[in-house]
Amino acid sequence: MGLTGQPTSPVRWTRNGLVLAAILLVLAGGLFAVGAARKEAVLHERYAQALELASRSLDAQQAASRVNRDLARISGRSGEALAEALQRLAESLEALGGELATLQRTEPEAFAGRELARAEEATAQLLSLAREGQRQGAAVDPAQLRSRLSVAAGELEAVGHALGNLLAAARARVDEAARIEQRSDNIARISVFAAGAVGLALGLLLTVVAWRSLTTNASLMTQLSQLAREDALTGVANRRTLDERLPQEMARSTRHKYALTVVMIDLDHFKRFNDRRGHAAGDALLRNAAQAWLRQLRPSDLLARYGGEEFTLVLPACDENQAERMVERLQPLVPERQTFSAGIATWNGLDGPRELLAAADRALLQAKRGGRNRVVVSGREPQISLPLKLVS
Ligand code: GH3
Ligand code: MG
Ligand code: MG
Repeated sequence: MGLTGQPTSPVRWTRNGLVLAAILLVLAGGLFAVGAARKEAVLHERYAQALELASRSLDAQQAASRVNRDLARISGRSGEALAEALQRLAESLEALGGELATLQRTEPEAFAGRELARAEEATAQLLSLAREGQRQGAAVDPAQLRSRLSVAAGELEAVGHALGNLLAAARARVDEAARIEQRSDNIARISVFAAGAVGLALGLLLTVVAWRSLTTNASLMTQLSQLAREDALTGVANRRTLDERLPQEMARSTRHKYALTVVMIDLDHFKRFNDRRGHAAGDALLRNAAQAWLRQLRPSDLLARYGGEEFTLVLPACDENQAERMVERLQPLVPERQTFSAGIATWNGLDGPRELLAAADRALLQAKRGGRNRVVVSGREPQISLPLKLVS
């Protein structure tokens, strides 16, 4: 997390990566759906063509069997009966020719085979023989006609053969189309399931990442706001917190009608201490003293580092005498036999925060002037203040 509250790079990259993956998945799903729809349309057309071919083949087969039946009726007939049989044969041959022509339009490729070409030829030949017989009428020689018809009828066998092949081919296509459809159905089912599963997993992952980033953000924000309110060296409240809290405590003391006292503490001759022991030792002393004081306070009290080696205490529900005793308890807690001076001011209920702090600061100055290592209560000056008890 950066200071702006943005998630840190790894979290951001993971989240962006997941969002990108989700977008790519949706795009891939869309493309797959478009492809599948197009394939489905082509498949349906092929399916319909195969069905039509199969039905035309069946029609042609039926026409061919009628031709066979009418051919059989020719034998043994003469005169009127032969003329009638020839008429029927001509009609069924015309019907077969028509079916074959329709088949050719429906599926021109199926007629590439030699068998069908021969069958067409035989049909036409039989039809011309039947017409010729009809034209000759009573003059027709039934025996000669039968022998010529039987030669052409032999050729017609090829029609049945070719139509059988055609029907088989049509059935195979219908089966293949059904198989492909089944397969694409399965693929679609698997894709839908896979997309759902991946989507769910991605959703879960995004939720986890978002939740983690939110909690990380929240905890880092808490840390940040704590850092902004804390003094980095000593770990006690900083000046900003003091500026915020003092007016609040004043308002509260007015509301609850209790005394509010502030104390300014300044370490004595701290420059000298730094010069002798080094700045790092001075830092450690400031930290240790502040932490030791903190442990003596009530939860409602506030200890803030005012700046440098100066600290401020805000003590609600505490008058100057109680504050004085409290300061006396704090003195022995400073390490290295270091001393401090303190100025105490109890709020008069009228002044602003700045005036109250200034009053405590003036008392502190008095303590310094009085010889240090002592506490002065504002308003009691210029009484002679007693030195604080030194640590033995
Ligand atoms: P007095 O008794 O009059 O207060 O004397 P003093 O030396 O404490 O007062 P002065 O204001 O002259 O010097 C304050 C010193 O406190 C100066 C500086 O070396 C030291 N000081 C201020 N802030 C820090 C800090 O964060 N760390 C350390 N180690 N020293 C600090
Ligand atoms: Mg100072
Ligand atoms: Mg000092």
